[in-house]
Amino acid sequence: MLVTKRIDGRARADRLVGNVAAAAAKLKAESGIAPGLCAVLVGDDPASQIYVRNKGKAAAAAGIESFQQNLPAMTSEAELLALIAKLNADDRIDGILVQLPLPKHINPQRVIGAIDPAKDIDGFHPENVGRLWSGGKALVPCTPDGCLMLLHDALPNLAGAEAVVLGRSNIVGKPMAALLLNESCTVTLVHSKSRDIRAAVRRADILVAAVGRPEFVRGNWLKPGAIVIDVGINRIAHPGAKPKLVGDVAFAEAQGVAGAITPVPGGVGPMTIACLLRNTLIAACRRRGRAEPV
Ligand code: NAP
Repeated sequence: MLVTKRIDGRARADRLVGNVAAAAAKLKAESGIAPGLCAVLVGDDPASQIYVRNKGKAAAAAGIESFQQNLPAMTSEAELLALIAKLNADDRIDGILVQLPLPKHINPQRVIGAIDPAKDIDGFHPENVGRLWSGGKALVPCTPDGCLMLLHDALPNLAGAEAVVLGRSNIVGKPMAALLLNESCTVTLVHSKSRDIRAAVRRADILVAAVGRPEFVRGNWLKPGAIVIDVGINRIAHPGAKPKLVGDVAFAEAQGVAGAITPVPGGVGPMTIACLLRNTLIAACRRRGRAEPV
């Protein structure tokens, strides 16, 4: 029987953060510049507060200066746009991250569009999206960027592979499809209106699942030997016990069928923050015309 390799995203992310920290220390020693990241949080959503706190801690550990702007939930769109303009003009800040979701009265597209594309470390600004799709030099969204790194480790040459991406969000699915297309994969992008998703999954040499449905993909849907990247993070409540995290792929069923698979947790999740730090360092170097170190 085929032995399925477990893709260790935690170890890969630790290596990447180590490289970012070394490059940030070198930048500081050579030029006195510490890359700076500012997270903007509007409102008091507890999950968003945890994400932002973790990002701040990870940045500080990698030698990236971490700033945070906490605004009350009733902040107007105009006030938020004024803050973004201030951060765009602040030379200490290389990366601006606006934590999503924003309160309903604020248009996220207008806010994202107001960020200087050179500081758009989430890679959501239309200019970076356009560059990604046209094969230019973009700041790439962190989660799909991390997925691609894990894929490259499992399969160095992706050209010609049948790649199937489940989910078409602007944050994961669409940029993932663009990255795989840029790697010369044959890409199928599947969404909730797609017909016969099983048949699409069955063709996949590479499967990236980002639908947000617990264990949506069953083991017997997979092509034997497929490389599976599971982006999904689904909390399953158990009465009287801590909620359990599961992915979009039935991990246990994939054993002996998939060639390799990322676990949840410990797969894609740690890569997302590591790639955010890497994007901050890249933005700091690009803004100053310096070579990109990682
Ligand atoms: P999203 O914005 O909700 O998008 C989900 C996508 O899945 C949509 O394109 C939707 O199709 C599609 N979909 C939903 N149900 C489907 C079904 N039954 N059949 C086929 N397609 C279906 O979610 P997201 O932000 O991309 O996130 C997806 C998952 O990844 C979530 O579990 C999220 O928590 C996780 N995530 C993890 C990380 C990380 O760092 N590991 C980062 C981001 C997200 P339609 O477009 O047709 O509605």
